[in-house]
Amino acid sequence: MSVWESGNTIVVVGAQWGDEGKGRVVDYLAARAGMVIRFQGGDNAGHTVVNDYGRFALHLTPCGIFYPHVRNLLGPGTVVNLDTVSEEQAQLQSAGVDTANYWIDVRAHLIWPYHRLLDGAEEDRRKREAGGGEAMGTTRRGIGPVYADKHSYNGIRAGDLLYPDLLRQRLDLLLPIKNRQLALYELEQFSAGGLMDLAAAWRARHGDRIVDTLPWVRDAVRDGERVVLEGQLGIGRDINWGIYPYTTASSPTSGGACVGAGIPPRAIDGVLGVVKAYSTSVGGGPFPTELHDDFGVKLQEIGREYGATTGRPRRCGWFDGVAIGYASWINGFTGIAVTKLDVLDHFEEIKLCTGYRLGERVLDYVPDTVTQGMVEPLYETWPGWQADTSGCRTWDELPKAARAYLRRIEELARAPIQFVSVGPERSQMVLV
Ligand code: GDP
Repeated sequence: MSVWESGNTIVVVGAQWGDEGKGRVVDYLAARAGMVIRFQGGDNAGHTVVNDYGRFALHLTPCGIFYPHVRNLLGPGTVVNLDTVSEEQAQLQSAGVDTANYWIDVRAHLIWPYHRLLDGAEEDRRKREAGGGEAMGTTRRGIGPVYADKHSYNGIRAGDLLYPDLLRQRLDLLLPIKNRQLALYELEQFSAGGLMDLAAAWRARHGDRIVDTLPWVRDAVRDGERVVLEGQLGIGRDINWGIYPYTTASSPTSGGACVGAGIPPRAIDGVLGVVKAYSTSVGGGPFPTELHDDFGVKLQEIGREYGATTGRPRRCGWFDGVAIGYASWINGFTGIAVTKLDVLDHFEEIKLCTGYRLGERVLDYVPDTVTQGMVEPLYETWPGWQADTSGCRTWDELPKAARAYLRRIEELARAPIQFVSVGPERSQMVLV
């Protein structure tokens, strides 16, 4: 069934801990869409897109940017570092991409240099206090601090840039507090004048892109234009449902898509969960199916599992069927896209987790973070196919053992597989 058969408003979210390959899926869907909206998060993760223009890790720019006809929006739920937007646009433009059709909602919160500094300093403090071990694993992009400011009414929104007098008042009110926080970590202080200069530079570069996206989004949805809502990270990093506190500060779920883009739940026609054919997680927190043996190293090497933003090696493990069932419930998947099937081409046997043992009990859902750290995964073993799938373009061309493994994933996800990807290129996609 084509994704668009369920309707025109489709949410694309990560069904694991992030890095599932959402970027390439959105790039694929965008070809037939009119609008792509990033609805949460900032420049703390990269969506990799490989296409005729080259290979890109887009941190903030929506993945529909490669199609000039697509309106690319940074929605109200996002947090925006305008310097990153400038850098990304310069990279895209130098590769020949027309970046004119991007827009930032007036309600998106701005990431200021102090957010980044505070994020890094707080991460260092946690690391020190934790005895040098891995702390939260934040990417030091200021995401936690900017969302904290948003929720404590101390944020500055993109629209504020358009009203310099108001902005100055906000900064004058905020800076005494910010500077005290910075002093706690012995960090540099900021003056309102210095930040007003930065704001003026941002306004000159991006001011005409800052708009109220509400009427556009409302009319696009009402008129049946195809709209893709692009999630960042995955449910494992959701502020409510992820492995708190090793999470991000927003909700990369279909519910988050509604509030972050301004689309009512009833107007969402489809929710596509993107899931790797195995598991990876970057940063701290429990990870029940993590492999500490040669299989883990093999997944990391063949799958090139290194973070798009930080280059950090990703932790690797077998597919977690409990986690996909949980992701499907919270998000309400109407379909799934299974990526990186080709990485499993080289395995004789493949394991798949179908339950978590907790003492005498077996859990069929993902429990809270602390409990999750205590569970033991229960595995099924599936025969590998040991054949090159990277050239497969139809379901029937996939090896029989691969199809059986995928059908089991589908069962655990309680949602039909709509895509299988067998390589990073645009063409390496099997439509199911
Ligand atoms: P995202 O943040 O969810 O978009 O995912 P990332 O970009 O962080 O990570 C996905 C990585 O896997 C990127 O390097 C992609 O180029 C790559 N990738 C995506 N799909 C496939 C696939 O089917 N096979 C292989 N081998 N690589 C893939």
